[in-house]
Amino acid sequence: MGVASLRKHVIELPKRVVVGEGILEEVPRYISELDLGRRVVLLSGPSATRSIALRVRQSLEDRHFEVCEFIVENASIETVRRVLDYAKECKPELVVGVGGGKVIDVAKFLARDLGVALVSIPTAPSHDGICSPFASIKGLDRPTSVKCVMPTLVVADIDVISLAPRRLILAGCGDLIGKLTAVLDWRLAHRLRGEYYGEYAASLALLSAKHVLRLYEEFSAKTIPREAVRTLVEALISSGVAMGIAGSTRPASGSEHMFAHALDIVANYPALHGEEVALGTIMMLYLHGKNWKRIKRILMKMGLPTTAKELGVKDYQIVEALTRAHEIRPERYTILGERGLTWDAAEKLARKTGVID
Ligand code: ZN
Repeated sequence: MGVASLRKHVIELPKRVVVGEGILEEVPRYISELDLGRRVVLLSGPSATRSIALRVRQSLEDRHFEVCEFIVENASIETVRRVLDYAKECKPELVVGVGGGKVIDVAKFLARDLGVALVSIPTAPSHDGICSPFASIKGLDRPTSVKCVMPTLVVADIDVISLAPRRLILAGCGDLIGKLTAVLDWRLAHRLRGEYYGEYAASLALLSAKHVLRLYEEFSAKTIPREAVRTLVEALISSGVAMGIAGSTRPASGSEHMFAHALDIVANYPALHGEEVALGTIMMLYLHGKNWKRIKRILMKMGLPTTAKELGVKDYQIVEALTRAHEIRPERYTILGERGLTWDAAEKLARKTGVID
């Protein structure tokens, strides 16, 4: 990004976002109101969220939509290609993704390649891709997200989402807490490299992290109150919108995400994305000279992993991921610099922050 991006800047936003209780069966009406078409490819997950997708399917068929359904096992490029071949035969006018991260990611990719509208129906508040134009697909030449399409319609039914496992809810909190360092890194790149920095997009991303921190006691409770889940969903949507406004993942993804992606390579996707991001945020806050202790305390209180052991990885894998994080996205300048951390510095960092013993 350079001066050119200041001259021309495209902001992509969803046409409609509906957040509410008991709105799942209203999906056909929202689609009709936006005139998105009647031939639907419906993507769903294989297990827990399938019953929710079947409710959407039923309500669509009741209103005489034509539905082709495909069950998405994972978010790999092979899956995307298979679904694409199948989907082409249905000649869809829109793609509807009902599920967690993987399903929505594949749906985004599919909608882009088919050149049709996307409807995102998240079943868990585990990441900020619910309402962003970026998707993570395994097996591409890079582990980071790729630009697809912004969902035209997002339907977030709090009745459905608040039933998601606690671990997925906390992962969403972790993904948002990562905005603290993502925005610090963005400012750094602006000051050192003259990279475009959007104050508004940055504030919006930070706001989503602040709301999670403000509600940390609610998220620490045994049963997380629905109002807190609703705020989390709205914060995840805001973070996605911040990316739409910035035209890149910059406001939502910095060195903490690069660490998380590096750990996925080193330890083969050992934990949930938001859990890895949260742990990375502790260490990157330390590098930025910020109050990492406070954030670590909050993460511990909420029950997010703050050590290698809790995350299910070996100490050396944390160190290795730290030393490789800067290679993940070489064009994205962060606190890791161009050369990254030495093994010694990485080990000290992980030890100092209590991530490894
Ligand atoms: Zn993320």
